[in-house]
Amino acid sequence: MENKIRLSGLFLNEIEDYMKSVGEGKFRAKQVHEWLMRGRDFSEMTNLSKALREKLSESCISQSIRILESIESKLDGTEKYLYELLDGNIIEGVRMRYHHGDTLCVSTQVGCRMGCAFCASTLDGCVRNLTADEMLGQILIVNRHITEKFGEGRIHNVVLMGSGEPMDNYDEVVRFLRLLNDPGGLNISLRNVSLSTCGLVPGIKKLAGEGMPVTLSISLHAPNDEVRKRLMPVANAYGMNELLNACREYIEKTGRRVIFEYAMVKDVNCSLENADELASRLRGMQCHVNLIPLNDVKERNLFTPGERVMKDFQKRLEDKHISVTRRREMGDDIQGACGQLRRSRLNENGLSK
Ligand code: SAH
Repeated sequence: MENKIRLSGLFLNEIEDYMKSVGEGKFRAKQVHEWLMRGRDFSEMTNLSKALREKLSESCISQSIRILESIESKLDGTEKYLYELLDGNIIEGVRMRYHHGDTLCVSTQVGCRMGCAFCASTLDGCVRNLTADEMLGQILIVNRHITEKFGEGRIHNVVLMGSGEPMDNYDEVVRFLRLLNDPGGLNISLRNVSLSTCGLVPGIKKLAGEGMPVTLSISLHAPNDEVRKRLMPVANAYGMNELLNACREYIEKTGRRVIFEYAMVKDVNCSLENADELASRLRGMQCHVNLIPLNDVKERNLFTPGERVMKDFQKRLEDKHISVTRRREMGDDIQGACGQLRRSRLNENGLSK
């Protein structure tokens, strides 16, 4: 497996080069590429000869990922997936149905090493980075799944908010974004993509220069460094001033507003003073705040605040003219939050550390 070429992570011209190198014509590459983009395996590529299919499967890999399990929410049609990678690692994802089309939450690493106190994905650290084909594969395989399930449909929007820190796997993430956007491939507009980061400043600056109009989401979760350090170790490496300056640079270079995610944690970050401080830090920035009720983390004694606290916090930001919304809670009955399902499955199988 190790030395096989992962064809679904190649652009069409790269597949053409490969086909040429094994004595096949250019048009074969186009046929193979079309099948791959539909989530298909070599055995299903019926317009290729059996001999060619066998030859390809000896030296190449078609799909890098498969759906192990899918669970659909009875509440809102949200669907959660547990995927298996070729080396047996397990990751997860979730598809959400919005009026403007289906959104897939994509993972970028197996686990995560950022250590945020409230996040299930990081509890066992980072096992490894995902490769671009494994990220794209999540979309290919879900597109296939929904086509088979509903007879039509595909993913329109992508959020890099699954397990992992995208900026900790920068090169593969950027390659994945280019594959996603390829007009000969999935052709998903980068305006329909949100990349969420815990705040690795060098990555934000680099992304600002890629000429990619992706929406940058920052997991801010605090109005100052003191509170932020209680929740996120990354705050020790990059302070909020530095982080917000990098965001300003991003806005200036891309013309896109930045989204700040703010998970509300009881007694930690959602007092009215916190709201005032947040508003003053963000004043004048082209940004939007997305308030998220925390998914409780009992192991760490972190809980979501009451309804009143969340409403008051939101109102205070509105009063200070900060653009703010509360994230819709989806898939509550299927462990919708990232890292939760994988963790409970690993625990069931005695695989978790
Ligand atoms: N590493 C990236 C992307 C993955 S996390 C990042 O940090 O942004 C995706 C989002 O889910 C982040 O905003 C993260 O802070 C949030 N999140 C993680 N655990 C959560 C929880 N228990 N409750 C609410 N949001 C959570």
